[in-house]
Amino acid sequence: MDESKQRRGEPFGERLARHGLALTRERTTALQVNVGLACDLSCGHCHLEAGPARGEMMSRAVMAEVIGCARRFRFDSIDLTGGAPELVPDLPYLVRGLAPETRRLIVRTNLVSLEGERGEELLQLYRELKVVLVASLPAGNQAQTEAQRGAGVWQKSIRALQRLNELGYGLPGSPLELDLVSNPSGAFLPAPQLQAQEKFQRDLARKHGVSFHNLYTFANVPLGRFRRFLERSGNLDDYLEKLTAGFNPCAVAGLMCRSQLSVDWCGRLYDCDFHLAQGLFLGGAARFIADLDELPAPGTPIAAADHCYACTVGSGFT
Ligand code: SF4
Repeated sequence: MDESKQRRGEPFGERLARHGLALTRERTTALQVNVGLACDLSCGHCHLEAGPARGEMMSRAVMAEVIGCARRFRFDSIDLTGGAPELVPDLPYLVRGLAPETRRLIVRTNLVSLEGERGEELLQLYRELKVVLVASLPAGNQAQTEAQRGAGVWQKSIRALQRLNELGYGLPGSPLELDLVSNPSGAFLPAPQLQAQEKFQRDLARKHGVSFHNLYTFANVPLGRFRRFLERSGNLDDYLEKLTAGFNPCAVAGLMCRSQLSVDWCGRLYDCDFHLAQGLFLGGAARFIADLDELPAPGTPIAAADHCYACTVGSGFT
């Protein structure tokens, strides 16, 4: 049997050990905050299965605990994600509370949720506080984007990007940073990042007059809705094989979980948002951000799971 077939199904921890590597923490410099699973879209790749029917949302009380944690530990960056953060009623309270506590406050957006009066209020707040925006846009064309996100999403996304450019986001040399994140619309791996960025920049500028700063391309993580798609379409084994065959030991040093804490809408702590989706708590048991009196020490082990292969394929997920 060839080597790649023998290694299919090799647990991630064993793969690391074979390369003389271990998944352990370094200094914790970033906090990722998942404010809830409510979303106005139901994207096919979503590892959290967020959507309109999900009611999980961070309360103001938990937000106050997150702000307290940010004051105690002064993270270099804080990254708000969801679901669609815009749907959480007290998001402005959280953004105002966190902005003075970090050099880099990031909010992720699906763009569609920036529509309407509420979206405009949030945009003004983001601009005032120089929040970094990371917008997900699966592809640089309507067909692939709507295959993953639903009909009508493309025009709304383009309108939101044009509005962001009007406000100064994403323009060359602007301090208002606008980055895009794309991911494949099926059971395949993403194109190399630089090549994809050049194509997105060319297409969006030429056809829609839109500019942005950086594009990040990531492999879909075989969890949640995407895993069910893989199972339904008979692609699960092939996709897992692609991830394991593409394992890049050089990507391990830069994995985000090594320097980041992740917290959910209830205040529970994890190593990353993918472990959050799987209920794999930081340190193996539920702990709450309000009780965090010190950050995990460098060298602390991180639970290795087989979905970690999605972070180490190609240039990695950092
Ligand atoms: S899923 Fe990725 S980010 Fe999370 S622990 Fe595994 S390697 Fe780290």
